[in-house]
Amino acid sequence: MPERHYRLCLLPGDGIGPEVISAAVEVLHAAARRFGFTLASGSYPMGGAGLIAAGDPLPAATLAAAQAADAVLLGAVGAPEFDREPPARKPESGLLRLRSALGAFANLRPIRHYPGVGSIPLKDEWAAGADFLIVRELTGGIYFGQPRGFEASRQAAFNTMRYSVGEIERVARVAFALAAERRGKLASVDKANVLETSQLWRETVTRLAPDFAGVSLEHLYIDNAAMQILLRPRDFDVILTANLFGDILSDEAAVLAGSLGLLPSASLGGPVGLYEPVHGSAPALAGQDVANPLGAILSAAMLLRHSCREPQAAAAIEAAVLRALEDGLRTRDLDAARPLGCRAMAAAVIARL
Ligand code: NAD
Repeated sequence: MPERHYRLCLLPGDGIGPEVISAAVEVLHAAARRFGFTLASGSYPMGGAGLIAAGDPLPAATLAAAQAADAVLLGAVGAPEFDREPPARKPESGLLRLRSALGAFANLRPIRHYPGVGSIPLKDEWAAGADFLIVRELTGGIYFGQPRGFEASRQAAFNTMRYSVGEIERVARVAFALAAERRGKLASVDKANVLETSQLWRETVTRLAPDFAGVSLEHLYIDNAAMQILLRPRDFDVILTANLFGDILSDEAAVLAGSLGLLPSASLGGPVGLYEPVHGSAPALAGQDVANPLGAILSAAMLLRHSCREPQAAAAIEAAVLRALEDGLRTRDLDAARPLGCRAMAAAVIARL
């Protein structure tokens, strides 16, 4: 029987980060009690909090703690008082450094429809039952390719989109494996009618398909995928795509869930997984107990599934969140007349575990 004890590195960060992480940690401890495993956690400064504590958005001690943990749970970084810092001292640069230090090349963003949440007309009819997972390549592509820059005149600028077969293969294998555990459908999204990197992407993904016999593979161009996600959201299971395309598609797909505050994410690939809600630090809401903690709580569920291999506890948290929403409980961002606070929402989830 493997030891079911997990060491978590908590990085609350800035703004509403500490509140949503504290809510998620309470839910994690409740799940540990119910499912019979134990947790130890330490909290470390990151982002603006790292700049204040140690003059660095990713202090060395924070990075060392993250690398030594079984998993990292991060709130959000960014605060207006640091907006004028040079690029290397911006809170967000600490996050990019952390992701690359952890080797987190596969970014998982589950999207699902929650009945009655959000205010988009007809959403409940066309999106009911939608439940898919976007796997975005996170450490390559046009966001990192060299050369990049401005020409001396500043009348032109350039970026480089580059992918190697190895970079494509490793993220594609993650996506195929996840599709095999879900409903067995993988949609790979590219722009192979125009871009050579996409042609290599498509060839490489196609070549891997026979290794995953239970998974059906389709290819879509990014422009078409952007439309199909909204036209037939129920048809998608796992969507695999490159860094730039995944950045855009995952924000577009967020409308299906109903609020930014509901969305979790996991960044995997290295020895330690990084879990964080998709939202930012929402500085205007900080310290008022009004933030929606569900994105952070669902990120904690992903942590239990992917890093701790506790799928039952993960599913129980996800079911408790769904029940809380079905029971009509809403934080302020979900348009409630009588909203629950961040702490009360966490307590409501725990009560339904
Ligand atoms: P944001 O996600 O913080 O806020 C966008 C909007 O959504 C705001 O209206 C906010 O009030 C609301 N919102 C976000 N999360 C919420 C929650 N949990 N509950 C209720 N409402 C919520 O994005 P922004 O305003 O563009 O950025 C604010 C700061 O966060 C900036 O410094 C930005 O750089 C940073 N940021 C960090 C991350 C990250 O840490 N991963 C991601 C995005 C933005």
